[in-house]
Amino acid sequence: MRKHTPESLDSLPVMLPGPDIVLACPHCGAPHRSPSLATDNTFGAERWSDGWFETAMRASLPTVARCVGCRVFFWVERARRLCDLDSISEWREEPHTRLILDHAGKRRVDVRHLLLQELGTNLEDVRRRMDRLPTPIGQYRTREEARKVTLRFEHQGAAVSSQEVAVKVPLDTRPAEWRQAPRIRLEDEALLLDALREGLARTLDEERELRRWTWWRGNDAFRGGDAWVPLSQRDYEVRENARALMALCSSEGTEPRWLHAELLRELERFEEALVLLDRMPSPELEPLRDAARRRDSRLLPLPFPVRESPASEP
Ligand SMILES: [Zn+2]
Repeated sequence: MRKHTPESLDSLPVMLPGPDIVLACPHCGAPHRSPSLATDNTFGAERWSDGWFETAMRASLPTVARCVGCRVFFWVERARRLCDLDSISEWREEPHTRLILDHAGKRRVDVRHLLLQELGTNLEDVRRRMDRLPTPIGQYRTREEARKVTLRFEHQGAAVSSQEVAVKVPLDTRPAEWRQAPRIRLEDEALLLDALREGLARTLDEERELRRWTWWRGNDAFRGGDAWVPLSQRDYEVRENARALMALCSSEGTEPRWLHAELLRELERFEEALVLLDRMPSPELEPLRDAARRRDSRLLPLPFPVRESPASEP
């Protein structure tokens, strides 16, 4: 039984991945491939009580990676872009031989079988084509290849003609080490905890970002419907991350205070959460207040759309 499944999940769009991009490790320059998105809309967006506000597509992009060369962590978004693997800027013309089936002859079944082999479609398609001859058989890079195919057809009594055509093919001048660079995998909570331990965050802002991602990735399983485990009952390092993140959230601004309250609630410190939430009168936070009053620490899907309310400023 799936819990916490937002209604918007049914309307999630088909994922439209963009081209792989090639990034250089900022420490040693080793190339890595990273997925990108072709479309970036908020259709099918989900909003959760821990501040996670992403579409299913965005959620599949990595934030942090460990370099395969020097093993040092880096921020994916800030790494130098070497190229997009789909952006082909140069094309060249290549002569191909196009073969056309003019007559099938008497051994139609055998010819049909040959045509199916060359086209790789289906029997229905091949039948339709053979009812309306002439029909193309295919295009071949070398004359030798075209000649072999022609001979197979002629052997079954068919008549085949040929044309020389110029075909545009991409000229891939990018180094093989870019094209074959290892793909960056989506990070999980454990990898982010490693990144924290190894000092990826250099500033307080970076630390807050990294700790927030760690919290989010740790909560991801519960967005998918796993039985809820309060933050207070998770591993020591995860609890320590929550504590450190709360300290970083205690600054001014609505969002950090809201996240601070949510961390307290997920840690089952309901009274403290309510004190903070009561200072933020925004009606959007009502589901969080409700849950805290019920002593419910579960991660909550929030209604969408939700706007930041200026009324909740101190
Ligand atoms: Zn490196």
